[in-house]
Amino acid sequence: MPELPEVETTRRGIARAVVDHTIVAAVLRHSRLRWPITRGFASRVQGRTIRSLRRRAKYLIFDLDDGAIILHLGMSGSLRLLAKETPPLTHDHVDLVLDSQLCLRFNDPRRFGSVLWTAHDPLQHPLLASLAPEPLSDEFNGEYLAKAARGRRVAIKQLLMNGRLVVGVGNIYASEALFRAGIRPRRAAGRLRQEEFAALVSAIKIVLEEAIRAGGTTLRDYVNPEGMPGYFSQKLFVYERSGEPCRVCRTPIKQFVQGQRSTYFCPGCQK
Ligand SMILES: [Zn+2]
Repeated sequence: MPELPEVETTRRGIARAVVDHTIVAAVLRHSRLRWPITRGFASRVQGRTIRSLRRRAKYLIFDLDDGAIILHLGMSGSLRLLAKETPPLTHDHVDLVLDSQLCLRFNDPRRFGSVLWTAHDPLQHPLLASLAPEPLSDEFNGEYLAKAARGRRVAIKQLLMNGRLVVGVGNIYASEALFRAGIRPRRAAGRLRQEEFAALVSAIKIVLEEAIRAGGTTLRDYVNPEGMPGYFSQKLFVYERSGEPCRVCRTPIKQFVQGQRSTYFCPGCQK
């Protein structure tokens, strides 16, 4: 699944080619995505200029001179910039044809993605209005995490992956950040020390920023806008390294299942 760094990488990868360009046509080949594409979508966006491209959590927001497009890549979606006459493949569901003769093409084999249009402030859209803080924002800091964890017996990794606390910290990044902060994933959230909350928040920001710089991800079926697979572009310390020696202390990495997800940690480096 594209995680926050992949979505941010996509945003950076396509921004220059779409901002200040006008949508001359929208082609919808399949409108039954996770939510149906907004009725009248093509006529709403045709002739509109894209003023900016923002990201909130894993949503991309194309601000138009009238209204906005809200796009989510879902489980398997990707966006590519192509010459507009490029023949579509089976799962190419939506094209935004631009005045530059390029088209922005949305491909999504599993169709859990979404392409919506709103006339109103996209940040107030029902899907976005109640989202938790961004992990890379100042609002997400050690004090914020400590307050959220106070009195909680839930495992710290589960807390991090709770989208109501912070958005976009998926399984890979939660595992990697806990490793870097030296904290075992199963520890009760409320029992962490003040300095551990601060270390953990800073590790989360570093891991996400590194992933963005590395061009996204770790995801097998993710293709970035230039068509390059991003898999394993970031050096991972624990994720999917079960039984392999820790890159820091050589202790074999351990794996266990936590909340139906695999969790990885180093028994030597994490307390
Ligand atoms: Zn280690």
